[in-house]
Amino acid sequence: MEASKFPLWIAVLGGIAVYSVLLEFELRSPLRRSVESKLTRNVRNLTIAGLSAFAVNIAQTAIAMRLAALVGEKKWGLLGLVSLPLWAEVVLAAVLLDYTLYVWHVLTHRVPWLWRFHVVHHVDLDMDASTALRFHFGEMIISVPWRAGQILLIGVSPLSFAIWQSFLLVMILFHHANVRLTLEIERSLNLLIVTPRMHGIHHSTIREDADSNWSSGFTLWDWLHGSLRLKVPQKEITIGVPAYRTPTEAGLLRMLKLPFVKQKPSWQFAEGDRPAHMDSNT
Ligand SMILES: [Zn+2]
Repeated sequence: MEASKFPLWIAVLGGIAVYSVLLEFELRSPLRRSVESKLTRNVRNLTIAGLSAFAVNIAQTAIAMRLAALVGEKKWGLLGLVSLPLWAEVVLAAVLLDYTLYVWHVLTHRVPWLWRFHVVHHVDLDMDASTALRFHFGEMIISVPWRAGQILLIGVSPLSFAIWQSFLLVMILFHHANVRLTLEIERSLNLLIVTPRMHGIHHSTIREDADSNWSSGFTLWDWLHGSLRLKVPQKEITIGVPAYRTPTEAGLLRMLKLPFVKQKPSWQFAEGDRPAHMDSNT
């Protein structure tokens, strides 16, 4: 099957459609008040995203899709060991890819040289659907060997990989969006997937918050690892990283250079103090 051609269209068109719908909701009913101009930030984030998309296209898609084709053909990996109906194979591949992405996300926070790249995603002073695409191109390139390992170990076919990529794109656009849903809707969705309030906590300037809610698609992984954090009042959340608090520090060129320059201690302000919740029990 020509899975490498067809789903890319689905992902791109679907991504644009979902982004447009979310943008409309963001303008009508925002969850958080913005610090910077939305237009300035979106142009900056989409520029960073454009460079990443280029890296993804030349590195990830070329390598990952070829590897997936080989894995599918040779029946390598865990899913190659069992004979499943197509739908079950696709669902299982997506679940296992989602879990191994959770592990990768934890590593990007825990391993200092990976954090140098991932911090660019977190420095954004506001969070909306454009933040979902704001990844340094270096992070995209570094993630290629991990992605290759996921495909090989799990035994992901090109079709499963393409469907998962589309699912992931929709999920990350949604949970980064600055969209106000009722708390009841969020809590119901949280039984299965990551929501805007939940992921906002991960983008908080408070380290304990940022060290939670690492899931990208299904919340199951945060439940299982005890890293789920929901009871943080939204009004107590400031989006960003304490070491970089001004629009100048979060500017485009600085962001592109950030992984390659001397790092400031991320989780404290320039003056040395750390942000904390008003009530430290929350
Ligand atoms: Zn993160």
